[in-house]
Amino acid sequence: MKIFNSIEDIKRYIKTLNGTIGFVPTMGALHNGHLSLINRSKEECDFTIVSIFVNPTQFLPGEDLDKYPKKELADKKICELSGVDALFMPTNETIYNAIEPLILAPSQKAYILEGLNRPGHFDGVLRVVLKLFNIISPTKAYFGKKDAQQLYLIQNMVSSLFLHVEIVPCEIVRDYDGLALSSRNAYLSQSEREEALNISKSLKLASKAMMKGELDFSKLREIMRENMKNLHVEYIEAVDREFNKIEKITLKNSIILVAARVGKTRLIDNLWV
Ligand code: AMP
Repeated sequence: MKIFNSIEDIKRYIKTLNGTIGFVPTMGALHNGHLSLINRSKEECDFTIVSIFVNPTQFLPGEDLDKYPKKELADKKICELSGVDALFMPTNETIYNAIEPLILAPSQKAYILEGLNRPGHFDGVLRVVLKLFNIISPTKAYFGKKDAQQLYLIQNMVSSLFLHVEIVPCEIVRDYDGLALSSRNAYLSQSEREEALNISKSLKLASKAMMKGELDFSKLREIMRENMKNLHVEYIEAVDREFNKIEKITLKNSIILVAARVGKTRLIDNLWV
């Protein structure tokens, strides 16, 4: 596996590739969720490139940028063993200039839900993803449904800026007990982890209620909130696939989204209905 830090070097390498390129952008501290994206890319593309970059512009002041988990050695090993062709690990200075045009995510979809609690977060996400797409020129790029709003905004950017990349949404990977895998799970103590399980459990309860015919979201929200009493819930909302808030669930066109704090750790999870 080749490892690149500079844009010139990775671009030179990419020019030598003869075939389709699958790209998996990450912030590192890789887990099985990331691995599922890598495996999907390997199945579908001739070459797989992974980036690891803890993007400073998507963190708000006071968030966990400085203590975001870093596992460089383990990440390299995981990528190598998974058959990744190239790993791109740029520095902040490589990616950002002091003076550059700004990308702003559409406010009506980027300043709600995650964006309401983390204003400006998605501007930073789109900024870095656009830069990475321009460096790698991937045929396909793989993103997790776990970050549903991010996925929607990236798909929207690709279609509205006419980018030459196909976005592939990938299923949420969970731990044996249902907890959605996240690099931030590393912050949780044993007891916090137990408490955090109520997030995925509440989504399961909502799913059961829907199977019995309950499609009124205010009722579903009540069931979920009741089950997350011990957590600091930031939001429980339902949206359609265009990220408009909805009060009635329609099958194949709804996502139930949750954000909650367990101690100091902020976790998100969701259910695609
Ligand atoms: P991150 O390193 O957290 O920025 O995530 C990199 C990519 O992995 C994003 O597209 C995420 O949506 C995806 N991802 C993170 N956790 C999971 C998970 N549990 N299942 C599936 N994809 C995930």
